[in-house]
Amino acid sequence: MSSQNYDYLDGNAAAGELSKIFVMDVTAAEGKCAHCGTTRRFAEAHVYMQCPGVVARCAGCEHVLLRLVNVRQRVVLDVSGMTYLSLDTAQTC
Ligand SMILES: [Zn+2]
Repeated sequence: MSSQNYDYLDGNAAAGELSKIFVMDVTAAEGKCAHCGTTRRFAEAHVYMQCPGVVARCAGCEHVLLRLVNVRQRVVLDVSGMTYLSLDTAQTC
């Protein structure tokens, strides 16, 4: 409990939750942080698995990039912390 600020996983840890929403593998995508402007692979993000959801933070500035919350039979996705998310379409086939 006391060290929760450092108790993160990498972006791959969010793959299972994100696969409920995205057909494509988001962990291989690149996202631009809306706060510091850094573009990184989502797999590099710091992911906090907090029931009932997931929070992904920028590896550079720790700003929240993405929040995913399970609320009963809904999944709420907040990606306002990213300017954009860029996915490689070649991987879908
Ligand atoms: Zn950032």
